[in-house]
Amino acid sequence: MTTPCIITVAITGSLPRKKDNPAVPITVAEQVESTHAAFEAGATLVHLHVRNEDETTSSDPARFALVQEGIRRHCPGMIIQFSTGGRSGTGHERGGMLPLRPDMASLATGSVNFPSRIYENSPELVDWLAAEMLRYGVKPEIEAFDLSMIFQAASMQRDGRLKAPLHVQFVMGVKNAMPVDREVFEFYVNTLRRLAPDATWTGAGIGRDQFTLARWSLELGGHCRTGMEDNVRLDRDTLAPSNAALVARVVELCAEYGRRPATVAEARRLLSLPPAATG
Ligand code: ZN
Repeated sequence: MTTPCIITVAITGSLPRKKDNPAVPITVAEQVESTHAAFEAGATLVHLHVRNEDETTSSDPARFALVQEGIRRHCPGMIIQFSTGGRSGTGHERGGMLPLRPDMASLATGSVNFPSRIYENSPELVDWLAAEMLRYGVKPEIEAFDLSMIFQAASMQRDGRLKAPLHVQFVMGVKNAMPVDREVFEFYVNTLRRLAPDATWTGAGIGRDQFTLARWSLELGGHCRTGMEDNVRLDRDTLAPSNAALVARVVELCAEYGRRPATVAEARRLLSLPPAATG
């Protein structure tokens, strides 16, 4: 039997609402609603940034709390992952919402160039975020923007800074970072298998090659990420009307590879997360 596919939806990034992403959710209500539609379409994990009223990204834990509460109410059991990325503030501010104990949080284990800036993750900050996640029982999703970050995560697991089993996301397609490249992708997958045989992984393609990476991930037994943070098009000529439409596209692809979307219970089991709290 093949492994069910955990579909992650990254509903909102940091870009302002524009002509090509009119449905990117900004307010708390929009974020909860968009997540709910994506959940109904087959997503079982939501990757979250939160926004201020003026659309800029916010690091305010109170805002994270509101979105988390809404999603818990409307999407029973869905796995909630907060972003600790650079867009959620600077330095320790990036982990200020971890005491809210989301199921997961993103953790980049090194620095990399982004389209117009350095995505800076100093050793001190990486260790601090990892320690906060251990402290609050939050499972990290390792964001691997290059090979060294996979090695770093494995080494942090060996010395106890990260809890096993790891979940790693291979990110490809960010301008100035690693492009969507099949040979490198396979090398990532094989390296992770060698260093951390019990790890799970997701392929995240940013931009126009998103579904190429989704196909490769489905083929090689991994999980998929989609959503308006990463890509706003269903194909070259068609804008995605919603996050749910992007998720539906990945659900269609699952069938082509003999896979099916994981249920909430399966996704939690695959990621070694506790079953959803009830009531
Ligand atoms: Zn993000």
